[in-house]
Amino acid sequence: MGHLSILEHASFTFGIDGISRVTSHQLVRHRVASYSQQSQRYVKFDSPEFVLPSTVTIDESRRQRFEAALKNLYSLYNEMIEEGVPAEDARYLLPNAACTKIIVTMNARELLHFFTLRGCERAQWEIREMATEMIVLAKTVAPVIFADTGPACVRGACSEGKMTCGKPDEIRAKFKSL
Ligand SMILES: Cc1cc2nc3c(=O)[nH]c(=O)nc-3n(C[C@H](O)[C@H](O)[C@H](O)COP(=O)(O)OP(=O)(O)OC[C@H]3O[C@@H](n4cnc5c(N)ncnc54)[C@H](O)[C@@H]3O)c2cc1C
Repeated sequence: MGHLSILEHASFTFGIDGISRVTSHQLVRHRVASYSQQSQRYVKFDSPEFVLPSTVTIDESRRQRFEAALKNLYSLYNEMIEEGVPAEDARYLLPNAACTKIIVTMNARELLHFFTLRGCERAQWEIREMATEMIVLAKTVAPVIFADTGPACVRGACSEGKMTCGKPDEIRAKFKSL
């Protein structure tokens, strides 16, 4: 009936691993939440992991050039550490592609809002994929609350105006089937 304040009493905690710093930065813009993120000040990254976009990996030469640049950054990062630069300063070299770990707690009302924004095709692919996985988990434990969760078009008209992806039927079917 739209009395969403009662949903604020139920909270959900997710342990998220293997997302890029691009996505964690987008995630923490959601202020009605609590976060604990792996430190780049106190953790040294000896064997770094990255997220590579498919628009890069689809072309072998492009992937190699992208990875070479990342390797150079990490070589220099390790050189700085060996020379005594503190990790908190050497980390200025670390790229947005670097993987991070983060724990996030949101109440159900905020999660519904988050899934509306980040499940939409207008959200970037990585946070959208992450939000979709979170929806599957949330639906498992609270199927009633999250029955029609997802972008606005799942519950009615598209909210994106001229920026619409133009395929609401496909998107509705995707979220209904999760
Ligand atoms: C497709 C897309 C593109 C984006 N592009 C950009 C961009 O180019 N640049 C950019 O800076 N950001 C961008 N963002 C981020 C966006 O502006 C928001 O910061 C982010 O989505 C967090 O959502 P929210 O503001 O609803 O915050 P949440 O923290 O999720 O807040 C939930 C709700 O609480 C209420 N609320 C929270 N805090 C306040 C407050 N201080 N005052 C009043 N009400 C409040 C609002 O109703 C808000 O919607 C983009 C987001 C999306 C999904």
